[in-house]
Amino acid sequence: MFRRVTIIGLGLIGSSLGLAIKQRHLAREIIGVSRKNATIRKALALKAVDKATLDVKKGVKCSDLIILAVPVLKIIDIAAKIKDGVKKGAVVIDAGSTKGDIVKNIEMILPGGVNFVGSHPLAGSEKSGVFYAEKGLFKGAYCILTRTSRTNKKALGKVKRFWMSLGMKVEIMSPKRHDRLISRLSHLPHAVSVALSSSASCNKKDLRLAAGGFKDTTRIASGSPELWKDIFITNRKNISRDIRLFKKELSKIEKALKKGDAVMLLKLFKKAKCIRDSF
Ligand code: NAD
Repeated sequence: MFRRVTIIGLGLIGSSLGLAIKQRHLAREIIGVSRKNATIRKALALKAVDKATLDVKKGVKCSDLIILAVPVLKIIDIAAKIKDGVKKGAVVIDAGSTKGDIVKNIEMILPGGVNFVGSHPLAGSEKSGVFYAEKGLFKGAYCILTRTSRTNKKALGKVKRFWMSLGMKVEIMSPKRHDRLISRLSHLPHAVSVALSSSASCNKKDLRLAAGGFKDTTRIASGSPELWKDIFITNRKNISRDIRLFKKELSKIEKALKKGDAVMLLKLFKKAKCIRDSF
């Protein structure tokens, strides 16, 4: 599919992409770009990339597909750094968990003849770094691609085929719709998980007794604080609105408790169960 692919950022997503691209023979050569030698050594040892460099400009030279797999706020910085080194006809994609700021800025930054398609693979975990790379990470999951008035149709088609070749199901929507939807389905759950984890101000000895319920609902609070800080900052309006909505739901439970209203509690629990059981 591609002669040369460059992956910038060799963490969980970047390295897993390298392994998946290799497994499916989608590129003749994969170049990795990282900030640390230790990450490069590990990515080479895992065979997630064929060659690697610390020099981002050198890394993108002659590549047909460039994947920006760094934290959200870094994605825009890196696009600015590479803009003069990317060859004409190349396609640039990202893996960022928010899309509005990224797509708006990168579409302005990249020169004519270089096409950008915003991408968000809805696959991953609370783990970070090359050590957790997994070639099967993307299989069967959804990937959202963004389309704007500036999106090149041919590039969008190519990027769609790329993610589908990794076994992903592709949905295409505007960056605005992506950020609204993913705020509700991913960013609000993270906020709730963080609040829940922080609310349990028990000592270590008591936490021993935390079982499935607490573990399930706080798992994502263990995700990288740096990564999530960028996600929340770039989708703050949507997340704030969803937190207000969540507080309303929580206060319905509180009200029912205050009144000792078992009928209301049953109604609230049944509605939630119905939604959760539907997927
Ligand atoms: P990660 O922390 O595992 O990896 C990020 C990597 O980027 C690290 O290796 C870091 O050293 C590197 N990096 C940071 N700045 C850099 C720079 N200037 N130059 C080169 N490398 C740099 O994070 P991840 O989970 O792989 O996330 C990467 C992107 O994918 C993020 O934008 C995130 O929002 C998105 N994403 C994550 C998940 C998930 O579940 N983890 C899912 C979908 C999308």
